[in-house]
Amino acid sequence: MLSIQNLDFSYNSAQQKAIDSISFDVNKGEVISIIGESGSGKSTLLRLIYGLEDFTQGEISWNDVKLKGPAFNILPGHKMMKHVAQDYELLDFVTVGENVGKFLSNFDLDHKQKQIDEALRVVEMLDLKDQFPNKLSGGQRQRVSIARALAQKPEVLLLDEPFSNLDQSLKLTIREKLIDWCKANQITVIFTTHDLQDAFYTSDRILVLQKGRKLQYDEVEKVREKPYNSYVAKLFGYVNLLDVGKYNKLKLSDIDMFNYYQLVYPDEVWIHVDGDYYGEVIDSKFQGRDYLIRFKHDESNFVAYFPFILNKGAKIKFSIPNNRIVKA
Ligand code: ADP
Ligand code: MG
Repeated sequence: MLSIQNLDFSYNSAQQKAIDSISFDVNKGEVISIIGESGSGKSTLLRLIYGLEDFTQGEISWNDVKLKGPAFNILPGHKMMKHVAQDYELLDFVTVGENVGKFLSNFDLDHKQKQIDEALRVVEMLDLKDQFPNKLSGGQRQRVSIARALAQKPEVLLLDEPFSNLDQSLKLTIREKLIDWCKANQITVIFTTHDLQDAFYTSDRILVLQKGRKLQYDEVEKVREKPYNSYVAKLFGYVNLLDVGKYNKLKLSDIDMFNYYQLVYPDEVWIHVDGDYYGEVIDSKFQGRDYLIRFKHDESNFVAYFPFILNKGAKIKFSIPNNRIVKA
């Protein structure tokens, strides 16, 4: 188990903390994603875990052994981990295959080639094994650097925005193959992303950061069902954040009324003839399966999914079936 306790870190003492008393545990073989807006500390947290920065307070341990930062290690970076940063650190004068095999033992060359091929297959780069990295696109270079980490079969794999340079269709394939392979090999994975779909489809748990702080660390379903606050809710994309008390029967104190919203996801707004409220359609946009309908009720704008197009100005009726509230 990887255990992080009360971790604190700043790049320089004058600056506000880049990581602010963060604690969480990761079980062996678990896949964790770290999400949060740009500058929230995702990359820094990975660098701390891998041992590239010296934390100012707290503790990181792997299987109950405490891990130290670079000030205490001759070579920064813990042996049982691999870290794939956003700058891929490939050697341009040797082939893709040689890059992937760079840290593998030469003791059994056949075995080494098998390890290289297996890793390249996971990221769909086997065809380009003999190519030189400077002939590759950004996305291909990214996949080579991931393959190089996989080939070494680390116990913990730390990936910084691993899918950021891949186009959508390729991303879906590689994301699935990569996670399946790590699961099959019992590799613990922690990756950063700002795409919630990445986090949803691949992770056992999600860690949400804001300004270096942990906002929430929960199973994927739980994060959606009970987001810590409206910042977390908004990571899911379109949401309705409504005044408490207006569309449900909840009664909160006057103070809480202003500190909370009723959170309704667009697939939860029910447009139907017997709805409780009237609305007027602003527009409908096709989203691939359903239409995203924007409509108004009183002064409030809503978003809702609906299987059919609705024309601008159309009068509709709708209901809000849930009572979920979140902190502002
Ligand atoms: P994220 O990966 O979530 O975008 P980072 O971990 O890169 O966020 O950055 C967290 C905070 O630390 C930001 O405020 C950023 O400006 C700052 N920071 C990152 N790298 C450095 C650095 N090398 N020196 C000083 N400040 C840094
Ligand atoms: Mg980053």
